[in-house]
Amino acid sequence: LFSPVEMAPRDPILGLNEAFNADPRAEKVNLGVGVYYDENGKVPLLRAVQAAEEARVAEHAPRTYLPMEGLAPYDQAVQKLLLGADSPLLSSGRLVTAQSIGGTGALKLGADFLYRLAGKRLVAISDPSWENHRSLFETAGYEVVTYPYYDPATHGLNLQGMLQGIEALPEGSVVVLHACCHNPTGVDLSIEQWKQVIEVVRKRNHVPFLDIAYQGFGDNLEDDAAAVRLFAEADLSFVISSSFSKSFSLYGERVGALTLVTGTAEEGERVLSQLKRVIRTNYSNPPTHGAKVVAAVLNNPELYAMWEQELAEMRIRIKQMRKALANRLRAAGVEQDVSFIEKQRGMFSYSGLSREQVDRLAQEFAIYAVGSGRICVAALNNRNIDTVADAIARVMLE
Ligand code: PMP
Repeated sequence: LFSPVEMAPRDPILGLNEAFNADPRAEKVNLGVGVYYDENGKVPLLRAVQAAEEARVAEHAPRTYLPMEGLAPYDQAVQKLLLGADSPLLSSGRLVTAQSIGGTGALKLGADFLYRLAGKRLVAISDPSWENHRSLFETAGYEVVTYPYYDPATHGLNLQGMLQGIEALPEGSVVVLHACCHNPTGVDLSIEQWKQVIEVVRKRNHVPFLDIAYQGFGDNLEDDAAAVRLFAEADLSFVISSSFSKSFSLYGERVGALTLVTGTAEEGERVLSQLKRVIRTNYSNPPTHGAKVVAAVLNNPELYAMWEQELAEMRIRIKQMRKALANRLRAAGVEQDVSFIEKQRGMFSYSGLSREQVDRLAQEFAIYAVGSGRICVAALNNRNIDTVADAIARVMLE
């Protein structure tokens, strides 16, 4: 039965972790990760999460099934966080939200829904994008193409290319957009630029699929949701996949959500009924713990304030590390403009390092980064920043 099964291609990031783990050098640093580490190099357990968990354990509640679309107070809190507490959509009946198995699960549910129930077959993702976007949509049956996004010359956005690329797609294509803190480049759109994208999407009747996995890591919770809110104000129907993996540091609990912004309350009802079927035939219903914890925090003003503060601490620390890295590179004699490191947003920086430079960093300095040059700024801290900056400067200069 299994003899014809061939070995799957190695996941580039997992392969990197294996090489890192096998490296005996004590000073080694892994910049390939996709998680937030605190100043001590540890994945934090947020105080707000801990408080909510303690209350939950003390309840000793029975473990029944959740509804297919998940925990209602969680789904409602997600809608509020994404669209804003004063959004008229909240009480319109037009929003359909299902708790999902992380942001990845939300993407897959959304992909399956649009494929099966809206007949979508073509999806465009940014060039570059989070590696899993392509494989996930391909596995769901789609043809996956890219639209221009990153401009290596400026380390910024190729806006004209992006607009033209999206315009040139066949009418009614699904367009995946990173709502904030683009992974892997850290390059985001301004409000004005989003408005231009919205106009092209509207003109071409495309289906916007907003992926928001880092809300709160750019400027703050409200401003980071600006793109979502602009699409809502534009009165378009669209799809949002969201994740609390990073913002709650709850990676393994798999807390995400799929939100569909439909045209009318009656349409919303039909869409929810079909979405439930997609869920039922995939995994029946989602797990309880993460959603209970997140809902407890989001729906309690004190815990919410505590969480917002902790999220700000993570965001500020990353910004400090961006600044420290850029300054140390300059001090080490790097003359090319490195201010883009400070401008990019979220956990990652597209450093501009070539494959060869990344290889040298690993071989000579035990510093591991993704082959594309993506580095996780959240893996830097005051103890490793000098070593890392010196090594990067060396491979840039020599
Ligand atoms: N979208 C993007 C852009 C991401 O970077 C990630 C996580 N790396 C996800 C979705 C998936 O999030 P989760 O870990 O919650 O599945």
